[in-house]
Amino acid sequence: MLKTQLSVKEIYDRYIKKLNDKKNAVRYSDRSWFHSSSAGLCVRKHFYSSVSQDKGAPIKDDTMRLFRLGDVVHEDIQNAVRDYADSHALPILIEKELYLDDYNVRGFIDLALLDRNTLYDIKTCNSWKWTKMFGRGSNGMPDLHQQLQLATYGIWVKEEYDIQDLKLSMVYYNKNTSAIREVELMSDEMMAEAELYWEKVNDMLEPVHMGEVSDLDDRGIDMENHFITDMPNVGQVIFEIPPVSLGTSPVQEWECNYCQFSDICGGIKNAK
Ligand code: SF4
Repeated sequence: MLKTQLSVKEIYDRYIKKLNDKKNAVRYSDRSWFHSSSAGLCVRKHFYSSVSQDKGAPIKDDTMRLFRLGDVVHEDIQNAVRDYADSHALPILIEKELYLDDYNVRGFIDLALLDRNTLYDIKTCNSWKWTKMFGRGSNGMPDLHQQLQLATYGIWVKEEYDIQDLKLSMVYYNKNTSAIREVELMSDEMMAEAELYWEKVNDMLEPVHMGEVSDLDDRGIDMENHFITDMPNVGQVIFEIPPVSLGTSPVQEWECNYCQFSDICGGIKNAK
């Protein structure tokens, strides 16, 4: 029987999905770490992603294509920097994996040019976002959560390579116009902010009880907003699910519109 022919769009969508599945299998098989890319964002999302490890809704095809476009730009810029570094014998980091054990955070650095003590994060954006950041009347600074993401990498690089004057620089690529602009952050201040953020995440997602659930009766803990799991050598471990509350879960209202856990969480709109 003749199989239905796939359109080019369908072939491309399947290809992207295959790439994405491969990336997830390599990078995210251990989900217990918090993701550095979610720095500065919803604490409850860290709970679903890394504590209860819920599956979340599948990412839509058009969103996958947007992510892929971002990946393609990333790879091209990284290849260009690798080529430049090779021809000048410069030390660089590209897609370097990092672990911040103290904060249970894992991530991958886009780019670092170590001869100039500078760590870069590449971001693709559309013209609306570009104008919001760099247009008339704007302050020319990236969103706080993007700064905290790069600062999280900075904490690791600073310590790992013993760099005192580490510079943090965001590289923006406008997908509509191909314009590129670098923005240098206030490194030390942002790294201090990132440390505070990850301390808060760890505090809020610390187990509230280790041992048998029946032990909790005496403490009068309402189990409705709790999550119980079994851990090897520990037994039952109980976590409190952070409540939906603007400022921490989510940090900003728009996060719920793009969250893969909104179906199980309910989000800020349903909490009002
Ligand atoms: S839906 Fe909103 S509050 Fe819930 S986990 Fe996602 S971002 Fe956080």
